[in-house]
Amino acid sequence: MRETTELRLTPREAADPAEIRRVAARSLGLAPERINDVRIARRSIDARKKDIVVNLTVAVATGDDLTALPPLAPVDFRPVPEDAPTVLIVGAGPAGLFAALRAIEHGVRPVVLERGRDVDTRRVDIAEMSRKGEVNPESNYCFGEGGAGTFSDGKLYTRSKKRGDNEAVMQLLVQFGAKDEILCDSHPHIGSDLLPKIIKRIREKIIECGGEVRFATRVDSLILTDDPDGTRRADGVTLADGTRLYGPVILATGHSARDTIRHLHSQGVDMEAKGFAMGVRLEHPATLIDRLQYHSPEGKGKYLPTAEYNYVAQADGRGVYSFCMCPGGVVVPAMSAPGESVVNGMSASARGGRWSNSGMVVEIRPGDYPEYERYGVFQLLELQADIERRFFRAAADTLRAPAQRMTDFVAGRPSDSLPASSYPAGLVPARVDLLLPPGISERLKKGFRTFGFRSKGFLTPEATVIGLESRTSSPVRLPRDRETLQHTGISRLYPAGEGAGYAGGIVSAAVDGRRCVDALVGNKQLYCPNPKK
Ligand SMILES: Cc1cc2nc3c(=O)[nH]c(=O)nc-3n(C[C@H](O)[C@H](O)[C@H](O)COP(=O)(O)OP(=O)(O)OC[C@H]3O[C@@H](n4cnc5c(N)ncnc54)[C@H](O)[C@@H]3O)c2cc1C
Repeated sequence: MRETTELRLTPREAADPAEIRRVAARSLGLAPERINDVRIARRSIDARKKDIVVNLTVAVATGDDLTALPPLAPVDFRPVPEDAPTVLIVGAGPAGLFAALRAIEHGVRPVVLERGRDVDTRRVDIAEMSRKGEVNPESNYCFGEGGAGTFSDGKLYTRSKKRGDNEAVMQLLVQFGAKDEILCDSHPHIGSDLLPKIIKRIREKIIECGGEVRFATRVDSLILTDDPDGTRRADGVTLADGTRLYGPVILATGHSARDTIRHLHSQGVDMEAKGFAMGVRLEHPATLIDRLQYHSPEGKGKYLPTAEYNYVAQADGRGVYSFCMCPGGVVVPAMSAPGESVVNGMSASARGGRWSNSGMVVEIRPGDYPEYERYGVFQLLELQADIERRFFRAAADTLRAPAQRMTDFVAGRPSDSLPASSYPAGLVPARVDLLLPPGISERLKKGFRTFGFRSKGFLTPEATVIGLESRTSSPVRLPRDRETLQHTGISRLYPAGEGAGYAGGIVSAAVDGRRCVDALVGNKQLYCPNPKK
């Protein structure tokens, strides 16, 4: 028999399998020797009070059942038939790669076109970026195999519960090498040391099943055909070298492909301005965050993970919130072209670094900056680009990041010195509070005061405000039909993932990529109009 029970344990108890078995047996009124197997089905940490509780949902097997949880049934990916129809997938981020896997499940041959390089070469490019101070516009923290999520914290929680099957994505991640604890943790994460291996295995499976993954292959435009009835359809793509490829198109180019978005706009592909969020990355010593979050001078001690936080406040009608927190992580240069200043965060699976960082951002809506309205759909993209350039200039045209002590930022004064930081390209002292538009800066100050009030010690000169956190999501959206998921003005074009405005993170992007393939197959649009044209 399989049963589950809810346990509330101390961190020490929760780290001891024998103790979990003992308490589970007591909770179910069983003699411990009758239990065949015990598994954790769900784990979360409640650190709101001084006495920290680990909440476990524990599955127990007794009698004829030998395993407490049914074993995962891996998806049986089989080679697609020789004459299988092709789908063109632009971008090998989570949306593109999971779309490709889904296509194989449907017997469709995916051809993944990725402007960046394979994950191993990309790792070298990224290391060189900080060392040489130069950005490779085709291979960086945003572009390359695995997309923006490869060198990240690999957090896997998503607020999108309705949009498709998060669970299927998590199970596929386990099938390709993630630890199965991601299936039970309430805040699962993978880490930048493990993600590349998982991504490589996904690529190998796509190729093994008859698909293609082409690197250094940038798509510059769509092949569009105007039908006599006045409708338009996408018949394929044109690559940067002029090659034309035919098939329906899943467009999963992420939030940073500004050149691609502009090309498509110039081809008449409808898009609209979309709100996003912008601000800074805030870096504290990890031990300080551990002490605050776990209410203890000893910090996390032996049994707890490096602490996370999640803050939200309202300031003058806009949300101010922490974003993409990386406990024990590093701040990384996340610009995708020369002349930009952008930071983000990543961590290894152990989250064992000296610092903990998080984006601290303010919500921005179309119309918030009237001086940019003349750019129409690109109003927030132009704002984003302008502020990135401003930060770049403040760092004397280098990859160093403008930075200020948190308390100086709030007080509106320069910092005489800066704390040590994880940021590999180095910091430069600057008036970050003045580099940001007042609408962002003043709200962040209010937010920081609120967060410091809620958690005494959070607002501290030991913390560094590092700019600029600007790539939180896409500032444009490609409108699509709710049912068919096709672009509203162009059939056979499926805008997918974060860049198209339909995802915010690794899991939701992967889910969206899968949904687009399901829709494409459901819409019966797999014919190829004229491959020889
Ligand atoms: C440093 C960092 C840390 C992050 N940490 C997390 C985290 O911990 N958890 C989380 O959920 N999210 C995180 N994110 C966000 C997450 O990575 C994205 O939400 C997610 O990757 C979006 O997936 P996507 O497939 O839609 O787009 P992307 O991952 O951006 O992939 C798009 C791909 O398209 C390619 N491309 C672009 N234009 C073209 C073109 N014209 N032709 C061919 N290829 C093209 C790009 O090179 C890229 O590989 C992080 C992002 C960064 C940068």
